[in-house]
Amino acid sequence: MYYGKQGTVWNIQANQASWMVRKILQAYKDLEVVGWNEARVIQVEKFSTKQMYQLLRGEYPKVEWRKLVCNTIACPKWSLILYLTLQGRLLTKKRLIACGSVDNTKCILCEDGNENIEHLFFSCPYSRQVWQKILQWQNIQKQASRWNEEQRWAHDHYKGNSPEAKIFRTTLAASVYNIWQERNHRRRLEILIL
Ligand SMILES: [Zn+2]
Repeated sequence: MYYGKQGTVWNIQANQASWMVRKILQAYKDLEVVGWNEARVIQVEKFSTKQMYQLLRGEYPKVEWRKLVCNTIACPKWSLILYLTLQGRLLTKKRLIACGSVDNTKCILCEDGNENIEHLFFSCPYSRQVWQKILQWQNIQKQASRWNEEQRWAHDHYKGNSPEAKIFRTTLAASVYNIWQERNHRRRLEILIL
């Protein structure tokens, strides 16, 4: 309401605002990527994550990550978080500290390591345990390993269209999503306590 007084919220420069307000105001950059302008956004009655995911995904040439994200039975929000993780775009503390919105990079799942994508998936003892149990549940005899290794292994073994491959990719998306949700839940509690 406050910023809307200037008539438009699309290109407001609010350099004095909190990082969260600035982040919201800068969201237009993501919307412009899919060709939306402010008038288009105003028309939206109910935001659809699925639609936005499909718009953002676009018609890219086939690349490695595509085989892991697409053609699963995962719901769109799982695929979206997996996609962001594979692209290195998850807003971990390592990225947040660069813009000054956190003052430490301590992982809030194990309270030991530094929170970045490599640590969260699955160097962190907490998330490694989750992924190890999911692997066991699928009867996959393998130790949970580092993110780059997991990607390579998944690509080598489960890129096809067999039911096992689809289930594997779905469990990967579900695990990444739920670990990230747990991290966000604890992060909210951490902010409340501060
Ligand atoms: Zn950790």
